Amino acid sequence: MGAGALRLRFDRLIVAGPTEAAAAVARLLPKRLHGKLVETIPMAINASPREVLEKVRAVQERMEREHELEMIEELASELHESGKAVSGLEAVCRAVSEGRVWRLFYVKDYTASGVECSECGAVTPGSPDSCPVCGGTVEPVEQLIDRLAQLVLEQAGQVEMVAGPAAERLESFGSIAALLRF
Ligand SMILES: [Zn+2]
Repeated sequence: MGAGALRLRFDRLIVAGPTEAAAAVARLLPKRLHGKLVETIPMAINASPREVLEKVRAVQERMEREHELEMIEELASELHESGKAVSGLEAVCRAVSEGRVWRLFYVKDYTASGVECSECGAVTPGSPDSCPVCGGTVEPVEQLIDRLAQLVLEQAGQVEMVAGPAAERLESFGSIAALLRF
């Protein structure tokens, strides 16, 4: 690693190389770098830049999946009567309408349709003729999940679309859920 690389800011370090050499390098890392070490991966000395990139991407992908699973478990632990989370489309729609969602989670490819009230702005799944909150007129919303995500972002919340094991876990409580601000 040249001195130039050390001037770059980064928070994850992956050491790649022939197994023993990579392990030796990892052991010799200065402390400040060791804290950033994600893992060492086996790689041939003459690996092409493309191969390096692919392997790094695979590690990033796996870390992302692990992080998602942690977030979903944290969410699951709040899914009780006095907890700060809700699950299922109906409850999530209500929470978004009330501006209470801090972080929205949904399973990738999950879709639903619904309506949005032109008067109070409440979003509701299904196709009610009028707003269940205020009785106002409603407009159909084809891509309800996209609309929910947009509303959460407008409310300065965060949106996490999950895949893999986290998605399987999330499917067990309705494919959509949210951590609440209050
Ligand atoms: Zn309304």
